[in-house]
Amino acid sequence: MTDPRDEANDLNGKVAVVTGASSGIGAATARALAAAGARLVIAARREDRLTALADELEAGGGEVRTVAADLGTPAGAEAVVAAAAEAFGRIDVLVNNAGVMFLAPVEESDPNDWDAMIRVNLLGVMNASRAALPHLRAAGGGHVVNVSSVSGRFAGPTQGGYNASKWGVNGFSEALRREVHADGITVTLIEPGIVATELTDHIPHPATKTRYEGVVRGMDPLRSEDVADAIVYVVTRPKRVAINELLIRPLDQG
Ligand code: NDP
Repeated sequence: MTDPRDEANDLNGKVAVVTGASSGIGAATARALAAAGARLVIAARREDRLTALADELEAGGGEVRTVAADLGTPAGAEAVVAAAAEAFGRIDVLVNNAGVMFLAPVEESDPNDWDAMIRVNLLGVMNASRAALPHLRAAGGGHVVNVSSVSGRFAGPTQGGYNASKWGVNGFSEALRREVHADGITVTLIEPGIVATELTDHIPHPATKTRYEGVVRGMDPLRSEDVADAIVYVVTRPKRVAINELLIRPLDQG
């Protein structure tokens, strides 16, 4: 006879919110969570992309709502969470994934790019988590998954602003984890290495962009689906299991 304590968290009928779902890791995560049975709220700024993804998932039998919002503002983050609660009446999983990576040497960095990285990558995670907590508690517990980066652990040239934003995500996640674990809320930090996505398209410093693209070309980078798999894995463990942190790099990245 199986021990009920070994039962995995079942996503069937559960409600998952995925930010930054209009491309890359977020879109792949939405697909993977929908395939595992979750109902979804997907958010980002590009509404056309969200609608196309929602159509695709609904054609496969999924239940999806889209929210066009700027996660870099408290109102945007709150609107995403409120829309999810209104649409489905509960929230079980929040995947804080929206992010930007404006790499440049410190002296050549645009303060507006730093501002955007802190607002979206760090404050977006904080504001969405804050707004979601009452709903996770009301559902009897739940899961916050914060997509940080290898850059939340290892710092390097041209990454100052990005490192600062992701280092912040790591600190916030650990504080939140310790604050809410007793309420049945699990907090997991996901730290991907290089993943082939649109993230690099927006690197503002030409020499940095060229160098970064060369590094990516010289390896077999992760696919968004690899990170999505990891996210589905962490949210479907038995309830007693809390994966605090997951570092996942392409084999080639060393
Ligand atoms: P993408 O550029 O493909 O995805 C980024 C997502 O974030 C998009 O859906 C984008 O949507 C959304 N986004 C950006 N700014 C905002 C905003 N202000 N409001 C709402 N949504 C926003 O890149 P990835 O999939 O690679 O990035 C996803 C996460 O993974 C990021 O947090 C990134 O830092 C992290 N990561 C990526 C790695 C990589 O190598 N690719 C490595 C480690 C971590 P839209 O533009 O429509 O708003």
